Amino acid sequence: MVRDSARPPDDLRGLPDRHGRVARDLRVSVTDRCNLRCRYCMPAEGLPWLAKPEMLTDDELVRLVGIFVGLGVRQVRLTGGEPLLRRSLVDVVRRIADLDPRPSIAMTTNGVGLDRLAQPLADAGLDRINVSLDTVDPREFADLTRRDRLHDVEAGLKAAAAAGLTPVKVNAVAMRGINDHSVAELLQWCLDRGYELRFIEQMPLDAQHGWDASTMISADEVRDRLAERFTLTPLPAADRGSAPAERFLVDGGPETVGIIASVSAPFCAACDRTRLTADGQVRNCLFSQRETDLRGPLREGASDEEIAGLIRGEMWRKAPGHGIGTDAFVQPARPMSSIGG
Ligand code: SAM
Ligand code: SF4
Repeated sequence: MVRDSARPPDDLRGLPDRHGRVARDLRVSVTDRCNLRCRYCMPAEGLPWLAKPEMLTDDELVRLVGIFVGLGVRQVRLTGGEPLLRRSLVDVVRRIADLDPRPSIAMTTNGVGLDRLAQPLADAGLDRINVSLDTVDPREFADLTRRDRLHDVEAGLKAAAAAGLTPVKVNAVAMRGINDHSVAELLQWCLDRGYELRFIEQMPLDAQHGWDASTMISADEVRDRLAERFTLTPLPAADRGSAPAERFLVDGGPETVGIIASVSAPFCAACDRTRLTADGQVRNCLFSQRETDLRGPLREGASDEEIAGLIRGEMWRKAPGHGIGTDAFVQPARPMSSIGG
């Protein structure tokens, strides 16, 4: 049922939208900067980064996360840009872990620098981690990320497991002509080390607008390539909930691999996500054409209730789906690295 009004009715608490979904999973971009230059994400020269005064301070960020928690958010994922580049990250995690009720805290990182930070982050309250790693071939890694940092990522993964951030999850995007032929090697490498691998389809969110439907490696193609080496048994869709990955037992299990068909079979109908950018904008979708400013009102003295009203208004407007592949689709002006992936 679609309920039509500019704001959610008072009887609907939390973060509902007009299509019956309720947001409980907050993705926070803690910085838009990055030390890699993944081809599916940003150009070789990087991007014009936010200036410090534009970014939320720690106090502002933690206050906003607290307001989201008051609105029913139960999982907070820290991302970016590269979240490990925020100097105060450990402290931010500790302060989010002090919120009441305490949300679960996850992070998505490229893993560079994680060897030093995994244990302090776990001690501060980080519960789970996803490390992005698209290939374990050093030449492919350097080609795809335009940086020679594979060893750092490997060390980061090891440190995450040693710090108890298990099961350590690995996120991978396959790009045609770069790492698409080595997806089975990557899975074997993860299986050997006890990391849980999930592939995600490349989405039109790169700053340089280079995405092309005709060259994207689809979830089906990844599955076919993995099936050349492994027996994949699909797990029942009912186990999935709002989690976007279709999961398969590998060679009878218990290990699994996930494949997320974000473009070819979108999970928008079950989406429970909301997003906060490093400069304090709330977005109801990665692909949204608009966002609502929270930083301005915050700095002008708005109350928690007023900010909560702004967040509820933004979430209420959430579109039913991203519409990639339709004539109406327009890539958002903000790239993934600035929204928070
Ligand atoms: N820098 C961190 C990292 O790479 O994990 C966090 C931010 S990054 C934007 C978050 C995730 O988005 C990564 O797993 C990355 O592979 C993925 N990503 C970036 N651009 C993408 C795109 N165009 N399509 C699909 N996934 C993308
Ligand atoms: Fe940086 Fe992550 Fe984007 Fe790669 S995907 S350039 S690591 S923000």
